[in-house]
Amino acid sequence: MLNSGIFYSEVSRRLGINRSTLRAWRTDPSSVDKHQDSACPRCEPIPRPPADAESYSYLLGLYLGDGCISRTGDGSRGVHRLRILCSDSWPGLIEQCSSSMASVHPGRRVNTALCTGCTEVYGDWKHWPCLFPQHGPGKKHHRTIALEPWQQQIVDAHREALVRGLIHSDGCRVTNRIRKKLPDGGEKWYEYPRYHFTNASRDIVNLLTATLDRLDIPWRSHVKATTGVHDQTVVSISTKAAVARMDSFVGPKY
Ligand SMILES: [Zn+2]
Repeated sequence: MLNSGIFYSEVSRRLGINRSTLRAWRTDPSSVDKHQDSACPRCEPIPRPPADAESYSYLLGLYLGDGCISRTGDGSRGVHRLRILCSDSWPGLIEQCSSSMASVHPGRRVNTALCTGCTEVYGDWKHWPCLFPQHGPGKKHHRTIALEPWQQQIVDAHREALVRGLIHSDGCRVTNRIRKKLPDGGEKWYEYPRYHFTNASRDIVNLLTATLDRLDIPWRSHVKATTGVHDQTVVSISTKAAVARMDSFVGPKY
C-alpha cells in the first residue's frame, strides 16, 4: 500500500497499525516478523485460528472452567489480563497452564502470583477477548456460553485437550473407599477412583458432556445422596474403563 502511494495515515487507518510501526517496518522489513509473533490471529485481514490449536483447546477449557479476563491499566494503554486460577491439587498444572498461555500468545511474558491454596497464572494482551469471545460482563453461568464455529473446529480436533483443561480447572479426581464384609466375618476395603466436574453454567457442563460423548467416555450427572435428585451442575465419570481412559490424558499425575 505504501509503495502504491497511499499515505501512512490511510494505511494506518485501514490496517489498525500505528504510523510509527509502519515507518519502522518500511525502514527494516525484517522487523515485521518480530511483530507478527505477538499479532492477533483473529484481527488479521483474514482471521485465522491460533497457531497452536492443541494448547488453545486446553487453555479454552481452563478459561471456561476457572478463568477470567479483566481490564487492567487505564485509557488507551489499558490491556486485558487473562487469569487462570490453578489449584495446588494438580502439581503439573501451573507449568502446563503457563506454557499453553505462552504458546497461544507467543513472545510475551506469562506471570504467576501466589494466592491461598492456588496460584494465579496470568498474561496481559489486549487481544484476549478476540481469542475468548465468551468474555463478557458478569458471571459465566448468568450468560450464554456458545463456541464460535472456529472454536468448535479446534475443539473437534483436540477434544482431549479441552476435557483436560475443564477437569484441571473445575474438576477433581477422587477416590471413594467402600468397606465390604467378608463371609468369614472379616472386612475388605475397595477403592473406586472417579472424576467429578462441577460448574454452575449449564452451557459449560453441556460442552463437557458433548465432548465426552464424542470421545465415547460414559458419564452421568451426579445424584444427591440426600434427595436422590440428579444435580445437573455435577458430572461424574466413574466406570473403570472410563476412569482409565481419563487417566491416560487428564491425570492422576498432573
Ligand atoms: Zn484481536
